[in-house]
Amino acid sequence: MKDCVIIGAGPAGLTAAIYGMRAGMDIVVLEKLSPGGQVMTTYEVENYPGFIDPIGGWELMNAMENQARRLGAAIESGGVERLEWKESERAFSLFGPGIGEMSARSVICASGASLMKLGVPGEAEHTGRGVSYCATCDGAFFRDKVTAVVGGGNTALEEANFLTRFSSKVYLIHRREQFRGLKLLQDRVLSNPKIEPVYDSVVQSVNGTEKVVSVTVSNKKTGSSSDIPVDGVFIFVGYRANTEYLPPALLNEHGEVEVDMHMKTRQPGLFAAGDLRKDSIRQIVAATADGATAALSAYEYLQSF
Ligand code: NAP
Repeated sequence: MKDCVIIGAGPAGLTAAIYGMRAGMDIVVLEKLSPGGQVMTTYEVENYPGFIDPIGGWELMNAMENQARRLGAAIESGGVERLEWKESERAFSLFGPGIGEMSARSVICASGASLMKLGVPGEAEHTGRGVSYCATCDGAFFRDKVTAVVGGGNTALEEANFLTRFSSKVYLIHRREQFRGLKLLQDRVLSNPKIEPVYDSVVQSVNGTEKVVSVTVSNKKTGSSSDIPVDGVFIFVGYRANTEYLPPALLNEHGEVEVDMHMKTRQPGLFAAGDLRKDSIRQIVAATADGATAALSAYEYLQSF
């Protein structure tokens, strides 16, 4: 029986592990993919305090992982599919591939959020063949080619800018005439000569056979449709909380975990931290703060045993 299982090894989970280990808890961190979370696919992080110059997403997360490991945290591979509270044992049972059944006195859910899909014809068929959700991973395949970025939030703006390192031209397709992202990022995008914004437009389909050749967009104001020839499409239209393994009674209408300011859920012994929780600002610094809070709350909870 573990003191605490932390589900997810992104900034929230790794920080919870760092704080939990320092509090003397017996911890295991479970990660479905590889440690680091979404930040691993971010080329540069410019707003995490402590670094004068931007730090690579991979470099930052690698340092957090190594810090947690140095303190003795076990980071194991495994995805949680179901979680049960066993009143008689005052413990949680976790089930999933690679973990069998695992028991813990407390659980910190830090499984983050996943990128949303557009859900248009041609998107799924061309994923990995021109459609991508990660400019850092795939941008270099589009050297001197024309690409489109879909979305108007911070991610779309940052990634459109990043893609201009490779692409000869980047269309930035947004469904409204005003971007959602930060003014600083908007200014960067609008002053980049390689980026052409396509406002008020929604993608209807991604077209091609073996590879992507164009996207069909319709203009919401005029109702007209047109094809934009592109070699690649990068989609950044938001995230959905990874909470499928949790009981619906703990979630809000968006599938996010309801927590109080101590990161406590409605289930005693169960905590949530990072992008999967209600009202998260989805920033690395906030996820790390949540992780620290959740670990200290779990520690306090464990004092009752
Ligand atoms: P987001 O802020 O939710 O923005 C999603 C964008 O996609 C919005 O512009 C939205 O349009 C558009 N969109 C949503 N569904 C769509 C659809 N079906 N078709 C077309 N467009 C669609 O998501 P995000 O940019 O990925 O950012 C997520 C969070 O991470 C945010 O809180 C953000 O601030 C944070 N973040 C911060 C940084 C940073 O600080 N450097 C970097 C990256 C992300 P509407 O605007 O019309 O809704």
